[in-house]
Amino acid sequence: MSRRIIPVADVSAIPSVAGEPLAARGMLADTLSRPLRDLRISVTDRCNFRCVYCMPRAVFGNDYPFLPHSALLTFEEIERLARVFVAHGVDKIRLTGGEPLLRKNIEWLIERLAALTTPDGRPLDLTLTTNGSLLARKARALKEAGLTRVTVSLDALDDALFKRMNDADFAPSAVLDGIAAAQAAGLAPIKVNMVVKRGTNDGEILPMARHFKGSGAVLRFIEYMDVGTSNGWNMTEVLPSADVVARIAEHFPLVPLEAHTPSETAQRWGYADGSGEIGVISSVTRAFCGTCTRARLSTEGKLYLCLFASGGHDLRALVRGGASDEEIGTAIGRIWQARDDRYSQLRGNAAPAPANQARVEMSYIGG
Ligand code: SAM
Ligand code: SF4
Ligand code: SF4
Repeated sequence: MSRRIIPVADVSAIPSVAGEPLAARGMLADTLSRPLRDLRISVTDRCNFRCVYCMPRAVFGNDYPFLPHSALLTFEEIERLARVFVAHGVDKIRLTGGEPLLRKNIEWLIERLAALTTPDGRPLDLTLTTNGSLLARKARALKEAGLTRVTVSLDALDDALFKRMNDADFAPSAVLDGIAAAQAAGLAPIKVNMVVKRGTNDGEILPMARHFKGSGAVLRFIEYMDVGTSNGWNMTEVLPSADVVARIAEHFPLVPLEAHTPSETAQRWGYADGSGEIGVISSVTRAFCGTCTRARLSTEGKLYLCLFASGGHDLRALVRGGASDEEIGTAIGRIWQARDDRYSQLRGNAAPAPANQARVEMSYIGG
C-alpha cells in the first residue's frame, strides 16, 4: 500500500514574543526540571538511503514532496538560532537529517558553529550523525572545519542484508571505508549506531560486536522505535537491549560502566578483557525521558521538544519576520519552560499511541 505522509508542519504554532523579555542565563528548566543542553539540527529532509525503518520507499518514493530549498533554514539562520540556544545553556550540537552530508557546503556551517562558545567560554561538543556513504570523501574536510566527532549508522556487515535494509544498493564496505577515514582524520571517539530489528538483522549483533571490538569505535545498539507513522512499527520487531547484552556476553564477558553524563542515552558496557565498550539505547524498554535535555530544530526551522511530538514551534517565522535575538531568545525560553513531553515514559505505562496519530517523521527532525 502506498501512503503519502507530509511532515506535520500544519500543526505547528508561531511562538509569541509578547510580554516581559526572558534573559538567557543558561539556566532554563522545563516543567520536569530538565535543563536545555542538547540541540539536534536537521539540515536536510533528503536522504540517499531508504532505510526500511525510517524512510520506506513505498512512502518516500520518487514523487515524494521534499521541502523546496527556500523552505530550508539558511546556514546564516541556523547559526543565529544556534547562538541563541547556546546562550540558553546548549553545549552540545548534533547535525543530522535526512543525510546531513548531502547538504552542500556543510563544512561552512560547521566552521561557524565550531566558533561558538558557551557563556563560560567552553567550546561546544559539535558532532554529526551520518549514514557514512559520503564520509570517506568528506571526513578530513569535516575535521578541518571543526567537527569534534562523528556517529555513523551501520545496521549489518552482510552485504545483501545491508542493501535490503537501506534499500538503495549501498554496500557496507562503503560505510566501513567512511569509518576508517573518520578515524584517520581524528574524528574520535567514533560511535557506530546499529538499529536492531528482531527477525531482520538481529543475526548481525555478534558479527558487528566482533568486528568493532578492539577497533576504538563504540558500537551502540538501538531498539527499533515507533517514530513517525510510516515505518509500520510493531512491538514484536523490537529486540530488548537486555537480550542484546545477553547475546554478546555469552561470547565476550561484559561489565557495566558508569554513564559519562546524567543525560546520556546509552547504557555503557565494557568488554571484561579491556578491549573497548558497547552501548545500548533502550528507547522502548527503558524510557530515559526523566533526563532528556534534547531539543530538535527541523530542516525548516521548527522547534520540537520531543522525538515523538506531533507539532513544532515555528522559529523560522520569527527569524524571517524580523524578530530580534532577544525576542527569539524569549520565545525559546518560554517554550522550554512549558515543556512537559515524556512520550517514552508514558508509552511504558500504556499501549503505544495508534499509528494514525500525527507524529513527525525521523527523517524530518533527525534522530
Ligand atoms: N541519515 C543519518 C543516519 O542515518 O545516521 C542521520 C539521520 S537518522 C534519522 C539518525 C539515526 O536515527 C540513525 O542512526 C538511524 O539509524 C536512527 N533511526 C532512524 N529510524 C529509526 C527507528 N525507527 N528506530 C530507531 N532508530 C532509528
Ligand atoms: Fe536516511 Fe538515516 Fe533515515 Fe536511513 S536512517 S533513511 S540513512 S535518514
Ligand atoms: Fe526525550 Fe521525548 Fe525521547 Fe522522552 S520520548 S527521551 S522526552 S525525546
